[in-house]
Amino acid sequence: MSEEVKEQTAPVEETQDTQTVEKKKYKRPASKKKVCAFCTDKTNVIDYKDGAKLRRYITENGKILPRRQTGTCSKHQRELATAIKRARVMAILPFKGE
Ligand SMILES: [Zn+2]
Repeated sequence: MSEEVKEQTAPVEETQDTQTVEKKKYKRPASKKKVCAFCTDKTNVIDYKDGAKLRRYITENGKILPRRQTGTCSKHQRELATAIKRARVMAILPFKGE
């Protein structure tokens, strides 16, 4: 019995460059489900005088942010919209960005 020990230590040459340009598909990052901030605070009536709080729900141009961005529930979004509109009248929030 002749054991042929063939040493095959040929260096593995990577002839194929694995630098294939992958088409980057835009994948939305798995976002956590936002919960309504007012529901967690158990706020029933949104205070229109609380400008600092309301300011988080408007854009820099003074527009009310959509629900899908803030995660506010429909009930509170309605409340929020009313509060923001009231705050505008009271000159707490701007109608239009500065
Ligand atoms: Zn809510």
